[in-house]
Amino acid sequence: MIFDKTRTKIVCTIGPASRSKKTLAKMVEAGMDVARINLSHEDHPSAKKTFKTIRSVDDSIPIMFDIQGPKIRIGELRTPVELESGQEFTISIEDFIGDEKRVSISHKELPNDVQPGDMIAINDGIVRLQVKYIQGDEVVTEVIHGGVISTRKGVNIPGIELSCRVPTEQDCRDLDLAAKLEPDFVALSFVIDHRDVINVRNILKSNGPSDAGLISKIEHKLAVENYHAILEHSDGVMIARGDLGIEVPIEDVPILQRDLIREANTWAKPAIVATHMLESMTHERVPTRAEVSDVANAVFDWADAVMLSGETAVGVDPVAAVEMMNRIIKRVEPRLPLVNPAEITSPKRMIVEIIGNLVYNAVSLIPDQVDGVITATRSGFTARWVSKFRPPVHIYAVTLDPRVMRRLRLLWGVHPVHYGKHIEYVDDQVRESVRAVYAQGLISKDKDIVFTSGTRNIEGKTNIVGVFHVRDLVE
Ligand code: PEP
Repeated sequence: MIFDKTRTKIVCTIGPASRSKKTLAKMVEAGMDVARINLSHEDHPSAKKTFKTIRSVDDSIPIMFDIQGPKIRIGELRTPVELESGQEFTISIEDFIGDEKRVSISHKELPNDVQPGDMIAINDGIVRLQVKYIQGDEVVTEVIHGGVISTRKGVNIPGIELSCRVPTEQDCRDLDLAAKLEPDFVALSFVIDHRDVINVRNILKSNGPSDAGLISKIEHKLAVENYHAILEHSDGVMIARGDLGIEVPIEDVPILQRDLIREANTWAKPAIVATHMLESMTHERVPTRAEVSDVANAVFDWADAVMLSGETAVGVDPVAAVEMMNRIIKRVEPRLPLVNPAEITSPKRMIVEIIGNLVYNAVSLIPDQVDGVITATRSGFTARWVSKFRPPVHIYAVTLDPRVMRRLRLLWGVHPVHYGKHIEYVDDQVRESVRAVYAQGLISKDKDIVFTSGTRNIEGKTNIVGVFHVRDLVE
């Protein structure tokens, strides 16, 4: 194998610490595959500037807009306050500057959405309140776990279906921006069920010809319950462990991570593992041993991608964080086991899945002889179904469309290769695709490749697999 890029991809959140051209270029060099712009923390002028900078540094890097969804926050506090366990604390929908007795909240339907006994978590779940009673505009609570709260800290109400859903008014404004800038992915926060995904897709379509891949963030208990339908309507998922670990018991998160990835994998949808992966690198130049193990375990769980948040957005050394992630992945990947295709085959029995399985088998029978899988793909569909079986070689996806190329970069093991002409017939597809990959120095003349595509290059009609010797096609 000549090409030594990781097969598990790296998503980096771009923020004040990383939005300069110089840092972005170094992050690409260090292994960044996808750049995420978190619209919870960026206004439109700054998001637009970051977007353009990323495109100017490397226009093959896909950009993901992450829209905030119905994230609830407490209002302003005069100073950070420490709440004591056992004290009474009031949350009100009126606007005022809070103190140690009461605070305002952004979600104006709160008194209608909660009942006595419900839990309310503030500041990453550190502070926990239990609702005692509701009085008009106020929700009166008892502090169960005390701690410090400060202005605009996030609020979670675990397990409750709130009356506000994605897309909120702010999300709609963000989707307008997405229609103008055309990011490659849009990540949706706090999806509850598949209707949220359909609604966002309809808005994006009505705003313009957007083909952005929709990534549903799984961070709510109800999203876990409705996962199958969410997955069916999404182009990928993010296991957003920050909020998920507040919405469900924290000890459930590693098991959910594994199960959610596996189901995404069965349906050939990319899964991103996010949050706290190298968290201490936000402030330090080395991660903890536990963080290194966490990244490694996500790779062993077969995540398509692992994500950096604060580490690259506001961290002391974003490039070092990407380098570290890259090193961990590279160390772990040679130890990945071969998959058992029968265990991850979907019940649908689609031809493309049979082809993906055949490709995997061909590669596994002669791994030392094969330098890669090459697929000629129009929409990326074939590449997805080849990637799902995690073949032990790189998958080179030869395609015409730069937008498809960018979206393919999120998929496990897939590396897009540009070919400038539409290729109709399969003989030409094989020869030209192999030549394009060879011309980039990605495969050796002395090796074989496994090729797959559709005989007439029609989207979704993958139907052939062949094994070819590279020299026979390039000389
Ligand atoms: C999360 O909660 O883990 C997450 C990725 O979402 P955000 O960064 O938007 O809080």
